[in-house]
Amino acid sequence: MRGSPFIRRGSLNSKDAMAHKQNYVERIERNRQLKLEAGLISERFPDVSDIIVQMTYYQNAANPVLMSRTIHFWPSRHAYFNMDCMRKECLDGGFDLTPVIIQMIKHRKKLAEGKLRCAGSVTPPAADHANISYKISITYKKK
Ligand SMILES: [Zn+2]
Repeated sequence: MRGSPFIRRGSLNSKDAMAHKQNYVERIERNRQLKLEAGLISERFPDVSDIIVQMTYYQNAANPVLMSRTIHFWPSRHAYFNMDCMRKECLDGGFDLTPVIIQMIKHRKKLAEGKLRCAGSVTPPAADHANISYKISITYKKK
């Protein structure tokens, strides 16, 4: 007996769901790995005593402001400043503040503000599905 289209479609969907879950698990593992490789703030940036990142998340929707949050990066934390996209299904997205923070530290800059757009892909495709505005304050140790 040949399988009905309904069953065929059902099995395809569960396969998709498994693949999606697999991607998600891989992504978490990859993030964890990147975080470990980044090393600690105290080791990479010994002059820094404190980094504070204030972020407001926006999405392209009727209620555009999703949330604001403030993250403290103590020297004992990993020098990994890649923030996840708030859309769980977003692939290869996120907001990487690492280049901004590295530039700031290089020039001993205390304050930076800007905006970032998530470059990940979501279903259905939406080029501007998520963005953030950020404000970064860095405190340096006295020399
Ligand atoms: Zn995204």
